[in-house]
Amino acid sequence: MLFASDLDQTLIYSRNSMGMEITEEELVEVERYEGKPLSFMTKKSQSALWNIHASAFFLPVTTRTQAQYERVTGIFNGQQAPRFAIVSNGAVILENGKPIKEWSEEIRQQCVSRKTIISELLPEIERHFSEDWVLKVKEAEEWFVYLIVDRARFPEDKLDFYTTVFKELGWGMSLQGRKLYFMPESITKAAAAMYIKERIGASYVLAAGDSLLDLDLLESADYGIVASHGEAVKSRVSMSGHIHKTDKHGIKVGEEILARVAEISLQRQ
Ligand SMILES: [Mg+2]
Repeated sequence: MLFASDLDQTLIYSRNSMGMEITEEELVEVERYEGKPLSFMTKKSQSALWNIHASAFFLPVTTRTQAQYERVTGIFNGQQAPRFAIVSNGAVILENGKPIKEWSEEIRQQCVSRKTIISELLPEIERHFSEDWVLKVKEAEEWFVYLIVDRARFPEDKLDFYTTVFKELGWGMSLQGRKLYFMPESITKAAAAMYIKERIGASYVLAAGDSLLDLDLLESADYGIVASHGEAVKSRVSMSGHIHKTDKHGIKVGEEILARVAEISLQRQ
């Protein structure tokens, strides 16, 4: 069984995204950035994640770039890191910490042939997003773009319009906290996870996530768990029957997901 899971706001949380009261004793730091603790999971989640190793193959599937993923060492503290990790939303697959070149070259070709490359996108962003609520325009390696936006001034009512405009150009949009992502349609978590499914010969995929960028992964899995607090649920998009919403909201969602994974892997043994 393959357990393919998003990280941020699914298994790990920043102080701002925890969404509930939690004591310091319940938390473990999993990421440090510029000397400061940045992301956390509950101790219960961390030990549950270690315990599923015997029955399920854990595959981190994140929109973080390789460098950003490499900061999240606390998840595996004292334990072996997973053999594979999907980073940059599926544009890059790490095997024992190194990108699989052929995979990324194939994705690159698809992006070039569909003209969903950053140099084509930037003028469109400039056209639609010149307002002062755009604080920064960031490029994630050569793959995709995200804006840092001022959420207080961001016009949420125009999001559907933007989504339609950029979809026609081959870019998917996702708003997560202060980040507004523009993702080429060729870069999906699902495709990369299916590649790993083949590689390891898994017969069953259980996937977890919270955002619109996780939807294709959840849809492609045999069983999906979506965080109730996340963008995917809030945006009210339709989801297939095999995708289940969590009962909990906030950081404890991690525990709920891992309990479900343990339960299902036990049933399948
Ligand atoms: Mg997430």
